Amino acid sequence: MITILAGGTGSIKIIRGLASCNSNLSIISNIGDNFWFNGLYVCPDIDTCIYGLAGILDKNRGWGIKNDTFYYLNVLKVLGEESWFQIGDKDLVTHIIRTKMLSKGFSLSEIVRWIAFHQYNIQNSIIPASNVHIETRIVTNKGDMNIQEFWVKNKAKPKVLDIYYKNSEQVKCNKDALRILRSSDIIILAPANPVSSIGPILSLTQIKKELIKQRDKVIAISPIIGKKAISGPARKYLKAKGIESSCYGIAKFYSQFISKMVIDHTDANFSNEIVKMGISTFETNILMNNAKEEKRLAKFILKVMNCC
Ligand code: GDP
Repeated sequence: MITILAGGTGSIKIIRGLASCNSNLSIISNIGDNFWFNGLYVCPDIDTCIYGLAGILDKNRGWGIKNDTFYYLNVLKVLGEESWFQIGDKDLVTHIIRTKMLSKGFSLSEIVRWIAFHQYNIQNSIIPASNVHIETRIVTNKGDMNIQEFWVKNKAKPKVLDIYYKNSEQVKCNKDALRILRSSDIIILAPANPVSSIGPILSLTQIKKELIKQRDKVIAISPIIGKKAISGPARKYLKAKGIESSCYGIAKFYSQFISKMVIDHTDANFSNEIVKMGISTFETNILMNNAKEEKRLAKFILKVMNCC
């Protein structure tokens, strides 16, 4: 069994690749970017995973459903209501169903299972890291805001001073997440934003302890090539947390949890320093621009882990 800890746009690429090679894949999804918008509970990373596995993700945007329309959003705009967070009309249905089920007392994991399986026929388990709301908060020179307010509403313009996970230390993780970690042969940290996608999952004490115990089985894929993130605000967040923006910096950040790391072949010069932390490195092209490259990297990981 393979388990991957995942966020959104970077993560779904390798999830698709792995799912195409191995059907026994479970996903523990980031929940730190969940938030309430216009009375609806929105879970961006969970939905990216569902839409990605269902084959309906808008790959150009990296979020939402392909060929979606935005009639609802445009009407909100005309009415002067909050419309800065883009939700397409088909996507809206997911948020309405989820919010309705939450109000009826279903847990987030029950809801995700229902939507993934019944609505989209996804066979993989998608497990929210916790059923309790935790929130990644960005402290900026313009105030303390949630991640969507920073990234979407303020277009990532404010200066990032710090990042923290509100509520996470006292919160229990999802018991299914622990069960799946304990029975996995391989645990993968997706090529994701280490601070805003993997960080919130690692901030849950029980998951953190379990990964430390399972370190021998844990492999990370670098989201950084050279000093640059392939997409998104990773560099800004890493800088605010004092983490070097390189595969070495990421390896150091993950060092207590991982025993192996896949880095880009152009970053081979970092290998010696990473190995000194007790982490074996494996070099290959880590860019995934299409389905073929997603599958190739997935196969590479499975080979490294003696799984194919
Ligand atoms: P978010 O929730 O949308 O920010 O998505 P993730 O955290 O899952 O993914 C963002 C991270 O994935 C960024 O740090 C990117 O550098 C990384 N990323 C995006 N595409 C790729 C890729 O093709 N290969 C690798 N190795 N990393 C990628």
